[in-house]
Parts: sequence; C-alpha cells; structure tokens
Amino acid sequence: MNKLTRYDIKYLSGVGPKRAETLAKELNIKSFYDMLYNFPFRYIDRSTIHHIRDLTGSDIPSVQLKGRFVSFNTQGEGARRRLIGLFSDGTGTMECVWFNRVKSIQQTYHTGVEYIVFGKPTLYNRTYNIVHPEVDVYQPNQGPAGMVGVYNLTEKLRNRGFSSRLFQKLEKNLLESEAVRSIHDPLPLGVLHQRGLMPIYEAVHNLHLPTSIASLQRAQYRMKYEELFFLELHILKNIKGLTKKLPGHVFARVGDYFNNFYSNHLQFPLTGAQKRVIKEIRADMGSGRQMNRLLQGDVGSGKTIVAFFTALIALDNNYQACIMAPTEILATQHYEAISEMAEKIGVKVALLTGSTRKRQREEIHAGLLDGSLQLLIGTHALLEDVVQYKNLGLAIIDEQHRFGVAQRARLWKKNSTPPHVLVMTATPIPRTLSMTVYGDLDVSIIDELPPGRKPVGTYLRFENQHEETYRFIGQELAKGRQAYIVYPLIEENEKLDLRALEEGYEIVKEKFPSYTVSMVHGKMRPTEKDYQMQLFASNQAQILVATTVIEVGVNVPNASVMIIENAERFGLSQLHQLRGRVGRGADQSFCILMSKHNLTKETRHRLEVMTNTNDGFVVAEEDMKLRGPGDMEGTQQSGIAFNLKVANLVTDGPIIEQARADAIKVLDNDPTLSSPEGRQLDAHMKMLFSHTINWGLIS
Ligand code: ADP
Ligand code: MG
Repeated sequence: MNKLTRYDIKYLSGVGPKRAETLAKELNIKSFYDMLYNFPFRYIDRSTIHHIRDLTGSDIPSVQLKGRFVSFNTQGEGARRRLIGLFSDGTGTMECVWFNRVKSIQQTYHTGVEYIVFGKPTLYNRTYNIVHPEVDVYQPNQGPAGMVGVYNLTEKLRNRGFSSRLFQKLEKNLLESEAVRSIHDPLPLGVLHQRGLMPIYEAVHNLHLPTSIASLQRAQYRMKYEELFFLELHILKNIKGLTKKLPGHVFARVGDYFNNFYSNHLQFPLTGAQKRVIKEIRADMGSGRQMNRLLQGDVGSGKTIVAFFTALIALDNNYQACIMAPTEILATQHYEAISEMAEKIGVKVALLTGSTRKRQREEIHAGLLDGSLQLLIGTHALLEDVVQYKNLGLAIIDEQHRFGVAQRARLWKKNSTPPHVLVMTATPIPRTLSMTVYGDLDVSIIDELPPGRKPVGTYLRFENQHEETYRFIGQELAKGRQAYIVYPLIEENEKLDLRALEEGYEIVKEKFPSYTVSMVHGKMRPTEKDYQMQLFASNQAQILVATTVIEVGVNVPNASVMIIENAERFGLSQLHQLRGRVGRGADQSFCILMSKHNLTKETRHRLEVMTNTNDGFVVAEEDMKLRGPGDMEGTQQSGIAFNLKVANLVTDGPIIEQARADAIKVLDNDPTLSSPEGRQLDAHMKMLFSHTINWGLIS
C-alpha cells in the first residue's frame, strides 16, 4: 500500500507531466495512492433521465436531464450579471443560470451539443431553472447504464479538459496498473475477516467503477471503516499516549484568593454545573499532568465566572494566568467583568489588545516579567513574542474556534513546562463526537443555565411583516428595554450587504425618532466601533444595528429583543449565538427571524430548529446533521485533520465504535506496534498523518 505513494502520478497512463502538474496544484494528487483515494463525491444513475414535462411542484430533488442548449444570453449588470442558458429536452424547456464564471461557461458549452444536465430545479416566475448546474457532454456509448461516479472538479481542471469522464478513464487505467493490482490491504487480516469487510482491491474498484448499488455500498462501508480505524488508531496511540505523559505544574492548593472570593464576594450562588466543572478543573490541575480541557457551555451558561475561579487557583499557587479572546470587544468585556471581581480581592489584572498604547504596553510587559501582574486578558496581542511571563501557569482561551491551532502553539511555547490550558466554547459538540474530534482533550460541560432564565421566545417572520416587527420593538423599548437588529455581511457580497445595513440603519432611525440608534460593523475603525458599542452597552443608545461582530460574547442584560434580518442567510450555530445575546436578564426576551418568503426545505428546517428549541446541544446536533462535522466551527481547528473522504463522524457512529474497539484491541496486544503486522499499520498511519502537526502537544 505504502509503495503506491512512491509512484509519481505523471507515470500513470493518460496523465503525463502537464496533467500531473494540474492535478497536484488543484487536488493535491501527486501519487498513485492519492489518485486511487480520490473517490467520486457522488454517483449518478445513468439509467434515470428525467423529463422537463414531468416536473411539478416547488420542492423537487435534483434531477438529471438530457438535451441541448437553445440559446445563451447574459442579463443584468454588475453583481447581478448572470448567464442564462435556455435548455430543451424535447419535452419542455427550462433555464440554466450562472452567476459566476460567465465568460468561461460561455466558451465551454455550445448550442446544439447534447448534454446531461444535473441540478436542483427551482420554480421562478412560473418556469423552472437550475442555478449552477453540472453539465457533461452526453456520451451515448458508455457501456451498460448504471452508477457512474462524479468527481470533484475545479474551474482550472475544467478549463484544462478534465471531466468526470476523464477521471473515470484515468482511474480505470490506474486500477489496471500492476502496482494497484498487487495492492496490499492496509487493514489487519483478522479485522477484515471478523467484520466481513470487502477486500481493498475490490473496494477501490467498486468505488470508482461500481458494478452494482449493493457492491458500491459494501465498498463504501469498507472504506469508511478503514478511515475510521486509522483515525482511531492514530488518536489512541499518538495523541492520547503523548499528552498523558506530559508533566504539568501541580496546583496543589486552593488558597486565599479563591476562598476569599468564594466566601465573601460572589454575587450569586453558583449553579450545580458550575460547581461540578470547577471541581473537575481543580482535580485536573492538581494531578501533575498538563490540563487540556474543553469547557463547553451554552451561551449565557456562566463560563466567565468559571474562568475566573480557574485563574484564581493558578494565582493561589503563585503562577500567572492569561485569558485570550478572539475580538477586542470581547476581550474588553472580559476585562471589565473580571477586573471588577479581581479588584475586590486585590488581584492585579491588565488588558492587552492591538490598540493598547505603547506606554501601557511597556508597563504590562514589565509587570508580567517581574510577576507583579497576575492576570492578563487580551486578544491575539498576547501571542506576540515580546509578551513574556515570569511563570505562566494557565492559559484560558475563549471561543476557541476563532483561533487557529498554530496560534495556540505559540502560547504554549511561552514556558518550558506547558501551562494548563482551558478552552471555552459555546459551540457544543455532542458528547459522542468530542472523544474522536478532540483526541484526548478532556471535556467539562455546563449543562445548566443560571436560575430564573426564561427561554428566548423565537419567531419566524417574513419580509412583508416588517411593520409589525417595528411595532413590537417599539413596545419593548417603551418598557425600557433595548434591541439588536442584525444584518448579514459576507465578504463576497460586502458592498451590497453594507448598503443594506446602512439603509436599515436609516429606516430604524426614522421609525424611532425618540430613541438613539447606534451602528457597528466590522469595517469600522476599532475606536469608532468601541464607541458605538459603548453607547449601547451603557443604554445611551437603545437600538443597535449591527453585523455579526456582536455575535461573540457581548453582554448587555437589558437588551431583550434580537431581530435577525435575512435570517435565511445565517448558519444555525450563528443564529444560536446571536440569540444568546438576549435572555441574559430576568425578563422575557425575544428573537425574531426575519426571512424572505421562498425558502428551500433545508433553510426552512434550519429556521424551524431555532423556533422549536433553545437548547444549544440540540441546535449543534441539527447543525452537524445539516452540514457535517468538518464544516462545524470548533471542529476545524480542533486537532484532528478532517480530511475524511468517505466517513462521516455524525452519521457513522456505529462504525466509529467498531473501529475504535478494534484499534484498542490491536494496541492492547501490541502497544508499540512493533510486530510485523503492527509495523505495517504504523507505517500506514504515519503516511496518513505525517502532514499533521502533533496536536496533542498544542491544545
Ligand atoms: P457565557 O457562558 O455565555 O460566557 P457569562 O459568563 O457571560 O456566560 O454569563 C452570563 C450572565 O450570567 C452574566 O451576566 C453572569 O454574571 C450571569 N451568571 C453567571 N453565573 C450565574 C449564576 N450562577 N447565577 C446567576 N447569574 C449568573
Ligand atoms: Mg462568554
């Protein structure tokens, strides 16, 4: 198996140096192995061709049509410019629409040629159209009709003549090559037999050139198993093993700071979950090995106070601590909340961000070095090389998904013995997954909200109901409450989005002349942003019109209304984060999702998840089902490379369990993988994971 990685792809019949270069650049395919494991991402059943005439209703799954383009026309200007291809299959016509790559599409596809068009038709102006369809030249002599693989293609690949059809041909050549014919199965023989898995050659053959649906499914199952087996083996052997051995500072006592604050200054009783989590953290930091702990807690569950107590334990043992947040606003808020508490017990805290003045910065550096500064709160600025501590014992990272792994590594390097690390996140990962996703990162969960919280009433409203929504905002403002109005802003659409935001701001100002309206967005200068934010936080402004810069962490308990404009454009976890900005006081709060009328089934489902539940874990699970874990914030930088090709961490739970059990058995018998079979497993694993950093040391 391993030797396939040594065969340069340019030697594959049909490839050559030019195509090899493109494959390497576009898909990172450099060897026979890479090519063999470049599986189709979808299969189409060539035997089913749909007819335009038969399409009915507004919610149709993807279809495959065979026919010709009658004409191509461009319409619209600027960002709205689009190419319309009128497509006829003899039973009717429909439109294919492209918003990007207009020129190259026009050069690639021609009228009169017979094509297979694949995509999801939507009803618009009483005709069907498919936006960005997949288009392939129809090949009449393709052998028996059946399942055919569709391969990943980039624009460059298409421009250079690559198509699914070419990939099928190349994979066929590959499967016929001597090297692949004599492929060695990477899975242990015992496992193959015991689990009744399809042997490797048969499996890869069926994945590229399926002989039947049943064998394709068996091949997919086997490949999922293979991926998950090596993933688990890697986690169990390399990551778990290594971090367990790392020594850590021993925080043996709970001393004055902790006890003094706990007994004399706590404003509210801790929830049971907060107490339990603090205990878990304490035990971990006293154990003699480095803590690597993920603290999960829904928005508003009270992670800040847990972070503070954790820091106090470090201080009680004569170590320094730092808290790092992803944005300046959030770091400042942490600083404000925490310095107020710290003051009461005489703990020295400072805030360090990109906009900290030079003089102050120098003071901070000096205080860190001589140990007089005990707790530092800040943004990425904490990672700069000039920031050196006397003895950093604990690093707390808030909302970790905003930080890359490399950044965490830099923090880690600030001391010869690694500090304990507590990562806090409001994006919960279901328990079943966290073990695999985070390797051995231990997990603590705050699964209880502070008492008296009322679930945020969440409602779906449509564009034509704006007046009603404004009336509702007015009622809440009259009660002395405040409201957020959030607009989407994505880079690709930045200009239009900013305009929508500014228009919204003008309308709102007009609608509510007796109130003050502030506005923040990511394109503002930080000082202006802070000023506008501060207006709202201090209730000098009653309405805040904003983009998602407020998504993370902002805490204004008097705000009771969250309006999300174009809610259909937000992802689930973002919607949940935004909703978490309200419902922080004792009063009933509301979240209104404003959406356009025509929604796809998936989008409607997403919005309904929001109106049906306030539980962040439920939201996260739905989110993962909809998007897959690789796309989830929080999992991307979580440590394990998410380049799973066929397996899915959400839906393949049962296979994960089997693979994990088998990997454990293998390691029980041969912990160092030094038997002949073990050495092969080890080599294969190294090949798979050599490009990943040793995450265990980092988080
Ligand atoms: P998050 O987990 O989203 O970071 P915070 O730490 O900001 O949540 O806490 C949200 C709010 O709840 C804050 O105003 C905080 O003071 C308050 N809070 C935290 N714990 C408790 C508690 N045990 N009882 C009452 N209020 C609490
Ligand atoms: Mg928080």
